[in-house]
Amino acid sequence: MPRPLLTRCTILSAIDQRPGMKAGGRIGILGGTLDPIHLGHLDAALAAREALELDQVLVIPSHVPPHRLQPAASSFHRFAMASIAVNAVEGLAASDVELMSPGPSYTADTLVRLCESLSLSPLQIFFITGADAFAEIETWSRYPAVLDLANFVVVSRPGMSLQALRERLPMLKGRVRLPRVTSATGPSIYLVDAPTADVSSTEIRRRIAERRPLSGLVPPGVEHHIAQHELYSYPPVTHSAADHLHGQH
Ligand code: ATP
Ligand code: MG
Repeated sequence: MPRPLLTRCTILSAIDQRPGMKAGGRIGILGGTLDPIHLGHLDAALAAREALELDQVLVIPSHVPPHRLQPAASSFHRFAMASIAVNAVEGLAASDVELMSPGPSYTADTLVRLCESLSLSPLQIFFITGADAFAEIETWSRYPAVLDLANFVVVSRPGMSLQALRERLPMLKGRVRLPRVTSATGPSIYLVDAPTADVSSTEIRRRIAERRPLSGLVPPGVEHHIAQHELYSYPPVTHSAADHLHGQH
C-alpha cells in the first residue's frame, strides 16, 4: 500500500534542503526523545558522520517513545529545538518524519519508511545510537529483524564504553565492524569511539528544575528557546512565592 504523500514529501524535503545530499548517498539518522537536544547528541551525530563519511545526518525527534514516560516538552518544542540546534551545522538537518506519523515511533517503522520513500537500500542508511541506547537493543520492537533494516552506528557515551557494550552483547559479534570497512555485504554494526559531551537530557531537565545554569550543555539558541518558552521550569512558581515577589509578605 502506498505511503501517505505527506510522509514522503516530509522526508524528501528534509533531505533536499541541504546541498550536501546526493542521490544514492549515505544517510545517517539520529533519533531519540531529544527532550531537549543537547551537545552530546550533536557530538554523536558529527562523529558518526565523519567516521562513516555520511552525506547527511537527519536528527529525528520521536513522537511517542514506546519504552518511556511521555516527554516533558511537546513534540512541537522538541522539533523546534532540534531545528535550532542543527541550524548552520554542515551536514545535519532536522526531520519531522516521526512526528508526522501517527502512533509510537518505532525505529523499524522509520527505517522501512525511509528505505521505501527514498529508494535506498538498508546499506545506505546508518542509524546512529549512543552505546547506552544500543545496549537495550534486545528490547526494541522487531529485534533482531530491525538489525537488517539499516547499518547501525554505535557511538561511545561517557559512562558506557564500547568495550562494555561488546561484553554485554556477545551474540552480535559477527556483525560488528570498525568504521570505513567497506567489504560488508550486509547491514553491519559500526562502533565509533569518540569523545562526546558528558551530558544527558535528564541532567538538563534537573538543572532547570533546580534553577541551575545550563552553561555550555546545549547550543545557545536552544538555551534561549527553553528560557523564552519557560520549558521544563517545574515546579511552577507558587502563589505564595508570587505574592512574596509582589511584596505582600
Ligand atoms: P534522557 O536522559 O532523557 O534519556 P538522553 O540524553 O539520553 O536523554 P536521548 O534523547 O535519550 O537523550 O538520546 C537519543 C540518542 O542519543 C540515544 O541513542 C543516546 O544514546 C544518544 N546520546 C545522547 N547523549 C549522548 C552522548 N553524550 N554521547 C553519545 N550518545 C548520546
Ligand atoms: Mg536516553
